[in-house]
Amino acid sequence: MNDCIFCKIIGKEIPCEFLHDDENCVVFRDIHPKEKTHLLIVSKKHIHSIAEMESGDAKVVGHLLQMAQKIGHDLKLAGYKLQINVGKDGGQEIFHLHVHLLSKSG
Ligand code: AMP
Repeated sequence: MNDCIFCKIIGKEIPCEFLHDDENCVVFRDIHPKEKTHLLIVSKKHIHSIAEMESGDAKVVGHLLQMAQKIGHDLKLAGYKLQINVGKDGGQEIFHLHVHLLSKSG
């Protein structure tokens, strides 16, 4: 876990501007945006991926989705796409649970 870049961002070992920070997640901009708005909604708990969720982690995932709804509303996004990559073959590069929020508006 010490080598996890998102754990380092959450632990403020790597500087990063948070758009949102609560007890379950942080939200920040993707360093390589693929849309006008490209945010990452990242669980504070180090969960490797959806494939490796443990009991109780579904609540965390639910919270990430609720956060997507709040951000979409707060940023007045006309629409957005949510993406969770799972495993190497699913395009996952960082093995710490996160939801991509992508929008052509923002
Ligand atoms: P995934 O392929 O779903 O694991 O997505 C990982 C995402 O993290 C990629 O879109 C990267 O551009 C993004 N990323 C990697 N390092 C950073 C960083 N230091 N700050 C913000 N985003 C990052």
